[in-house]
Amino acid sequence: MSIKSYDVAIIGAGITGAMTAFQIAKYSVKVAVLEAGIDVASGSTRANSAIVHAGYDAKEGTLKALLNVKGCEMMPEITSQLGVHYKKCGSLVIGFNARDLEHLKKLMERGKTNGVKGLRILNKTELHKMEPNVSKDAKYALYAPSAGIVCPYDLAYAVSENSATNGTDFYFEYKVDNIEYDGKHYTLYAGDKKVKAKYVINAAGLYVDEIAKMIDDDLPFEIIPRRGEYMLLDKSEIKTAKHTIFVTPNEKGKGILVSPTVDGNIIVGPNANIVDSKADTGVTEEGLDEISKGARVIVPSINLGAVITTFAGVRPTPTSGDFYIKESEKCKGFIHVAGIESPGLASAPAVSEYVLDILKKAGLTMRKKRNYIPTRTKDGNCKLFYEMNERERRQAIKKDSRYAIMVCRCEMVTEGDVVNAINRPISAHTVDMVKRRTRAGMGRCQGAHCRTKVAEIIAKELNIDISEVKKFSQNSKLLLGKTK
Ligand SMILES: Cc1cc2nc3c(=O)[nH]c(=O)nc-3n(C[C@H](O)[C@H](O)[C@H](O)COP(=O)(O)OP(=O)(O)OC[C@H]3O[C@@H](n4cnc5c(N)ncnc54)[C@H](O)[C@@H]3O)c2cc1C
Repeated sequence: MSIKSYDVAIIGAGITGAMTAFQIAKYSVKVAVLEAGIDVASGSTRANSAIVHAGYDAKEGTLKALLNVKGCEMMPEITSQLGVHYKKCGSLVIGFNARDLEHLKKLMERGKTNGVKGLRILNKTELHKMEPNVSKDAKYALYAPSAGIVCPYDLAYAVSENSATNGTDFYFEYKVDNIEYDGKHYTLYAGDKKVKAKYVINAAGLYVDEIAKMIDDDLPFEIIPRRGEYMLLDKSEIKTAKHTIFVTPNEKGKGILVSPTVDGNIIVGPNANIVDSKADTGVTEEGLDEISKGARVIVPSINLGAVITTFAGVRPTPTSGDFYIKESEKCKGFIHVAGIESPGLASAPAVSEYVLDILKKAGLTMRKKRNYIPTRTKDGNCKLFYEMNERERRQAIKKDSRYAIMVCRCEMVTEGDVVNAINRPISAHTVDMVKRRTRAGMGRCQGAHCRTKVAEIIAKELNIDISEVKKFSQNSKLLLGKTK
């Protein structure tokens, strides 16, 4: 069997790999994305705070600081190009005493040095006018108007769909387990599957160190898995906060936040605890207690009875404290994009441009594609029913009557939306893939009403038996058999 050969292979379809694939797709370069999971955004990108940080947090002069500020500036254009929900809601770091105020001033100075625009310290009156529910004990806040919120997995889907539309090949359930280099080409194995590439981007998130070892390279730091747990509140609570609100940071990092999401919920979390396993995304009672307490410090009246779901993500924390984006000194054309912890989401657009520069310097010829398609899909048709205006809804129903059949009542998702998600460039063929693309199952009832309906539609569209439909991976069957 002939092996497919590419100019560039990207290991990992998190936001780092996906955004890099999006940037390269603008050029006449043959690209493959190799992803261990069943879908884009299977790692840290799937579960995080979703904040587009302004850039006052990272130490002056670090790569993190540089790429965070630039990434935050690039985010509005990319999200608008691809129809991804993004809101420049601004962030507030609140302080309660003179010591906090000193810290906020330092953060402001750091931010200014990093190039963050519009930073200022608010007094108590200004703060409470902007956020009426914030603790009455809060006396100051550092306000960053350029900070925003975005849906991390939707951003990763959008850039991946655009990249696939422009010719990138995506391989899922392709867990790279061995790499050979003959001095010219890399062969990347996943069991008995293999592809070849001249250049490789190691964007494997928590597992970048393991990929590096496959070419006998050692990263000059360790990757420590640090878990963060969350609670998501019902849309009824949206008035809790208008901005992303943090407390003054401590030695563990930015601390617990309360923030609106682009979908109209309130997110609370995360804590930061080192875990034994990189795959430990479990939620604990102690963790939820910790974030509940933290949230009440910010908004004492927060209604934690309105939690609709809890989840956790794991950060790939580098012991060096900074992003590490470099061509391997041992293997030419092998680029590590490592230590991409927070603000890796906010920084992703700038990280990807930085990677492209390294690729060019390493010798990859990049000519702009003449027939580049700027939208997510060829026909640009990926608006969801709930996002459409009345005229667009009538048109959608006229074209396909399945847009008139409501599947998820909480989030107003129609059968037409589900069918569209299944047939898009990166097909949503499991219930969770449909959920993250359409929001069916993301609402108050968390799928109690629509889960089986979605499974039925997947089975019908893919012409498989409903018992074959998976929740998220190969081993997660929804239905085991018929009872009657
Ligand atoms: C709790 C928490 C809160 C955060 N909050 C924010 C925030 O508010 N704002 C912000 O900017 N950032 C935030 N971050 C950081 C952000 O989520 C990450 O920096 C970003 O998602 C990293 O993306 P990535 O693509 O590098 O890694 P990942 O998303 O982990 O992607 C790596 C991919 O590589 C795949 N992979 C691994 N091994 C292999 C292999 N052998 N073969 C093939 N594929 C492989 C994985 O399956 C995965 O899909 C947060 C992170 C966490 C965990």
